[in-house]
Amino acid sequence: MTDLVVPAPGLPTVPTSSGGRFPVRRVYCVGRNYAAHAREMGHDPDREPPFFFGKPADALVTDGADSPYPTLTARLEYEVELVVALGRGGRDVSVADALGLVWGYAVGIDLTRRDLQAEAKRLGRPWDLAKGFDHSAPIGAIVPAAGVDPTSGAVTLHVDGVLRQSGDLAEQIWSVAETIAALSRAVALAPGDLLFTGTPEGVGPVARGSVLRGAVAGVGVVETHVV
Ligand code: MN
Repeated sequence: MTDLVVPAPGLPTVPTSSGGRFPVRRVYCVGRNYAAHAREMGHDPDREPPFFFGKPADALVTDGADSPYPTLTARLEYEVELVVALGRGGRDVSVADALGLVWGYAVGIDLTRRDLQAEAKRLGRPWDLAKGFDHSAPIGAIVPAAGVDPTSGAVTLHVDGVLRQSGDLAEQIWSVAETIAALSRAVALAPGDLLFTGTPEGVGPVARGSVLRGAVAGVGVVETHVV
């Protein structure tokens, strides 16, 4: 017996490299965290505090699963990103302590309805439906933090085998530790939180039928077929 008045939603989980499953509470994303990407989007990179947006936890697409081309857009774009998976929570976390919250890392793709985002920017409206639509967050297996250096490593994205994005974690404006610390001043972080840490330059459109393959050296890959 239960007093739930509608069926309880399932708990989104992401496979880990060791065969476990990481339960997801929230998905945060940081914007414009690589100078060259900020420039390609028409902004001057600077050291203004990082800004955040979110995606629903059930927008995650596990590695190898299809990503349906979303409605309401003629400009779906890929953004390959390092994803941080938190195993511990906290608030007002110091930069020195921030990496101690991390359970592991994965490769993610921040799929974006760029035309809707541009309209939202122009009209001063929220980004939610430009960024947080169904199936908007492909993610690879989460690997344990031990042995991963989140301060350097090649970040690449191939579309149908052609290299489209190429950067390095060392180019992040705000490091993983600095980003976690900044986010923890805005919200209380908790186990199960994911953080997409921004994308290097080279974002662009993807067509139905294409295969996206993102990779971060030392972390792994994510692949999805846009259908
Ligand atoms: Mn992004």
